[in-house]
Amino acid sequence: MDKVKSPKKPLIYYCMIALLILLLLNTFVFPAVMKSQVTEVDYGTFLARVEKGEVTKAEIDEHEIAFLAQNDEGKDSIYITGRMDDPGLVEKLYAADVQFTQVIPQENSPLTSFLLTWILPIAMFSLLGLLFSRMLQKKMGGGANAMTFSQNKAKVYVAAQTGKTFADVAGQDEAKEALGEIVDFLHSPDKYKSVGALMPKGALLVGPPGTGKTLLAKAVAGEANVPFFSISGSEFIEMFVGMGAARVRDLFKQAQEKAPCIVFIDEIDTIGKKRDSGQFSSNDEREQTLNQLLTEMDGFDSSKGVVILAATNRPDTLDKALLRPGRFDRRIPVELPDLKGREAILRVHAGNIVTDGHIDYNAVARATAGASGAELANIVNEAALHAVREGRPQVVQNDFDEAVEVVIAGYQRKGAVISPKEKQIVAYHEIGHALVAAKQTDSAPVHKITIVPRTSGALGYTMQLEEGETNLMSKEEAFNKIVTFTGGRSAEELIFGTFTSGASNDIEQATRIARAMVTRLGMSREFDMMALETLSNQYLGGDASLACSPETAARIDGEVLSIIKSAHEKAVGILKENMEKLHELAAYLLEKETISGEEFMEILNGSTVNLKK
Ligand code: ADP
Ligand code: MG
Ligand code: ZN
Repeated sequence: MDKVKSPKKPLIYYCMIALLILLLLNTFVFPAVMKSQVTEVDYGTFLARVEKGEVTKAEIDEHEIAFLAQNDEGKDSIYITGRMDDPGLVEKLYAADVQFTQVIPQENSPLTSFLLTWILPIAMFSLLGLLFSRMLQKKMGGGANAMTFSQNKAKVYVAAQTGKTFADVAGQDEAKEALGEIVDFLHSPDKYKSVGALMPKGALLVGPPGTGKTLLAKAVAGEANVPFFSISGSEFIEMFVGMGAARVRDLFKQAQEKAPCIVFIDEIDTIGKKRDSGQFSSNDEREQTLNQLLTEMDGFDSSKGVVILAATNRPDTLDKALLRPGRFDRRIPVELPDLKGREAILRVHAGNIVTDGHIDYNAVARATAGASGAELANIVNEAALHAVREGRPQVVQNDFDEAVEVVIAGYQRKGAVISPKEKQIVAYHEIGHALVAAKQTDSAPVHKITIVPRTSGALGYTMQLEEGETNLMSKEEAFNKIVTFTGGRSAEELIFGTFTSGASNDIEQATRIARAMVTRLGMSREFDMMALETLSNQYLGGDASLACSPETAARIDGEVLSIIKSAHEKAVGILKENMEKLHELAAYLLEKETISGEEFMEILNGSTVNLKK
């Protein structure tokens, strides 16, 4: 259908302007003009002038009488007076030879009244409606007519524009290797054709947010030096049914014209969700779009060199049809980076900032277990920002340490007011954690202890640093972690005999580990290797749902509680044995506010401390 062009200034504007002018005339101009011609007099004057024979003409209205008489200057002028109950008036006028008449009340013709009461309001309302629908359309579709479909939103990226190569992606070696084959295919498709090997039509990048999926797709286009069509799943979903499907059709048509090229559908779960039955057709549009995508993927000839990449962090919600061979048959995991990967990512991003050249990236990487590429990029930037704030021309190790803490615990709350008593409790709490951690085997060494409050609400924390990469967690390690978490509260109990809210986060984490031990890791005596919980949505936090009877659930709770209880007892025991050190270390921390792992170990292993050092 053709685009209907709307006039530049709709009719309604003219109507409004005309109305405004009329209004102004009515209120200001007309009354003034009338006033100058009509003079109001009293009834007596009127009668007197009639008797004198000065009135030539009179018009009697329901409430007033208008008459014509000469004014002082001898000119005919209109006078007006109120009408009185005067039965003799007619006779008087007759006697004075006045031309007079009663005004016949005006009756609107049926046609006029019909126009006024029906047609006019309807016309006005339809005009208003038209105006609103225009405005609405402009907001949704950039002014296009509702019926114009085939507008294409797939942006064409020329190879040079993505500007990314595999060198920009640190770590992720497996993903790069898998994608390298696609790059090779786009470079020399004949090599594959001659052997009769078919290239996969599509590859699905799956992984948690911020691990570099979008970056990898761009890098593939950059490496292969081919056009890059990028579209986000949400862009397919439109107000009007059928638009998404039309977009998919257009996208593939364009891609086939530009082959060899890469089509990248980001966040494909928006359109690729499982089509489920039983619901009302509330998702018609999405299903149509998905169906169109499936059809297009079957329809095109991959030997031409169109490769479809897609990214998602919710692969478990994708429709099975999307994943079958011939569509997205290759799944490329893009996991959170390991220690080596984290270090590499830090180095890549540190290439953009000015450092003093003595940064221990390995230490930063060890302190950031579980961080994604995006978070690491953020840490590098925070470090640079911190250097600027401190007025330094170069980024030093301390900036990185601070940046890591900012990402973990938020900024320092410089102005926070904390009473001495509270500070003391916090110091004992943190030393409790550190001491318990240090006195256990299979526990990561203490790196730093601080009681400087942070914006996240933490009043202090103890940072432990794994020495290397760990992939497996033994039952003992899991249990020792719980013991370490309970160490803070144990110290508070032993020293102050009170319970504070400062342990709330510890309690949460300890419980989470204990639960996982029982329900998922098979680390409890009672349940052996029985899976009691299923984990869904693993890349976005992971939602665990119990898969057992209520009776079992109650027993799980009992088991979790007994693990935590014995951990708590163990922590109290360790602290009781090291009471002297606890006091010494807490006093030292209270004075210094932040102490390093080395200082901590020195005091712990030394026989005496000199507070004034
Ligand atoms: P997502 O997986 O959510 O699509 P992105 O690809 O958008 O993540 O990554 C966000 C940012 O994180 C990138 O622009 C990049 O700066 C950084 N990043 C993530 N992973 C890496 C990596 N492996 N190497 C270098 N930078 C990375
Ligand atoms: Mg992304
Ligand atoms: Zn704590």
